[in-house]
Amino acid sequence: MSLARRRLLGLAALVGLATPAFFFVVPRVVGARMNRVDDTRAIAVSARAETLHKTLFVADLHNDLLLWDRDPVQPGWWGHTDVQRLVDGNVAFEVFSTVTKTPKGQNYLRNSAATDNITLLAITSRWPRRTWGSRLQRALYQADKLEHAAAISEGRLVVVHTARELQTALEFRERTPVIKPVIGILNTEGLQAIDGELANVDTLFAHGFRMAGLAHFFDNEVAGSAHGEAKGGLTPLGRQVLQRMEALGLIVDLAHVSPQGFDDALALSTKPLVVSHTGVQATCEGPRNLSDGQLRALAARGALIGIGFWDGAVCDASPRAIAKAIRHAVDVAGLEHVALGSDWDGATTVAFGADQVAQVTEALLQAGFSEDEIRAVMGENVRRFMLANLPPGTESR
Ligand SMILES: [Zn+2]
Repeated sequence: MSLARRRLLGLAALVGLATPAFFFVVPRVVGARMNRVDDTRAIAVSARAETLHKTLFVADLHNDLLLWDRDPVQPGWWGHTDVQRLVDGNVAFEVFSTVTKTPKGQNYLRNSAATDNITLLAITSRWPRRTWGSRLQRALYQADKLEHAAAISEGRLVVVHTARELQTALEFRERTPVIKPVIGILNTEGLQAIDGELANVDTLFAHGFRMAGLAHFFDNEVAGSAHGEAKGGLTPLGRQVLQRMEALGLIVDLAHVSPQGFDDALALSTKPLVVSHTGVQATCEGPRNLSDGQLRALAARGALIGIGFWDGAVCDASPRAIAKAIRHAVDVAGLEHVALGSDWDGATTVAFGADQVAQVTEALLQAGFSEDEIRAVMGENVRRFMLANLPPGTESR
């Protein structure tokens, strides 16, 4: 018997012995440990902030809920979000991202593309066999999870694919006194999700994706990552991919991309882009946060910048630190370009989950923002951007 075969049989025996625990407990324990709420950093929400928050259109540009072994519609006991917690926090619009490959020992400085944690997560979370070896299939599976959740949500979650569908959902939200649905769109974090094939950009679009990040934690076939080894720019395939995305109406997300990739994408793109979840160097240094030069370049191109809630983005992950980063982004890029990009359930520790997002409203009031400025940052900027940049949709999808 070959060594490889013996190892495989050994693994199979181990898995067999531990089956129930392995397939039901492990992914949830891992998920709970990786997505914690540290409420020692939370702040009390005043009556004024509470009242204002209830009148806001709240939008968030980045959420990784779909990665985990959890039904988005069922109220969960761990992590940061589910449909109920989003409703409770008065979140009206959420960008649900899919994650297709993450390196072992993931860090912000340097990661190889050679290892992958998601294979084990896919197997232990009982994802279908087709997802084990294909990043594309992982993205499609997570997308299906969102569409299925919407289908069984009894109107509490609506996934939109066009500006027209978004407009309809917005009008419904305004009309109904009872069910205020969370409106979602689909993103994928890193275009390793196309498995190196240009044609798979079309596959993602056909499957409902309306936003895609060029890179995630490692350099992929499309672009260099801020956390990769070479940290290069757009590859020749990446240039074709970006042009195809714009032709289809897939919004380009520059979160995690290398500085060279950022410059290349800005030079090549003709449509407004987003940085879905980020911090700013001025309040929190680090390879994934934006310099003032990048903030200005994004503003000049009509981009939307989502400020994150976790320590990698704002350093101490408190609502006050979030408000400080927003203040700087507004001062440098301009009010209309700044939004929220929580990274809830993105293997992050945050001060509050979706149900407590009024803490940001409170922190913005304390930081001296006017109510109109708070409205813009908390969601109106996202509403305007999405209505202008989602495919118009003369017919449904
Ligand atoms: Zn991310």
